[in-house]
Amino acid sequence: MLQIKNLHASVEDKSILKGINLEVKAGEVHAIMGPNGSGKSTLASVIAGKEEYEVTDGTILLEGEDIDDLAAEERAHKGVFLSFQYPVEIPGVSVTNFMKTAINETRKAKGLPDMPANEMLKMIREKSELLEIDRKFLSRSLNEGFSGGEKKRNEIFQMAMLEPKLAILDETDSGLDIDALRIVANGVNKLKSKDNAVIVITHYQRLLDYIVPDFVHVLYKGRIVKSGGKELAHELEEKGYDWIKEEVDA
Ligand code: ADP
Ligand code: MG
Ligand code: MG
Repeated sequence: MLQIKNLHASVEDKSILKGINLEVKAGEVHAIMGPNGSGKSTLASVIAGKEEYEVTDGTILLEGEDIDDLAAEERAHKGVFLSFQYPVEIPGVSVTNFMKTAINETRKAKGLPDMPANEMLKMIREKSELLEIDRKFLSRSLNEGFSGGEKKRNEIFQMAMLEPKLAILDETDSGLDIDALRIVANGVNKLKSKDNAVIVITHYQRLLDYIVPDFVHVLYKGRIVKSGGKELAHELEEKGYDWIKEEVDA
């Protein structure tokens, strides 16, 4: 699904990622952990193709295809989904209508006509039932006055509707309460399949009590300095990051 080879990237001429190698196969869930400022969000942004990040070396392959030169939108159309860290509010545009537009834009990019209205409604009904999202929520203005949990619910609904091949969930370090964690975890667990892959980025181990990763990687100073199974997350929960920093900085 995803192959990252020797990825170097910088922001505003500052080198942030310094040789990332990562392979994510279909059906797998990978967690990326690491201390604040280690480059986790940068990695997510670079995979998604955000333009303020410059790739200075290395390659990113999606299903064997080099996506380095594609714009963020084109990557999204190919099935890369990055959760919105700072979702915009769009008063007057409902959660549902925003989703309809997003889906039809993706189809248009593939040369497909708009999804027929009845098919769209069916999909919305199925996905919202699967995720236990109520109708009232779907008709609310996008992100307007949303609580943390509601923002997460919206994000997971978007993920469910877009059916990405590769979903990257960057759970920022702040303010994810237990409800929001459960929403994200439930969504991921219901949506993961043998045909897609998920990368969960998190500073804390807590989320991984709910989403059990197949692999855990620790990012520090722009490099993956340790990889392991889910037990690595538990070890980090117990021991923190200092022992890893000491190993790397020694
Ligand atoms: P993490 O998500 O692991 O906390 P980030 O990827 O957010 O780390 O940040 C890694 C480093 O890159 C930090 O030093 C941060 O200040 C810098 N950085 C990230 N994004 C930007 C940006 N858009 N402009 C300037 N510096 C940035
Ligand atoms: Mg950070
Ligand atoms: Mg971050």
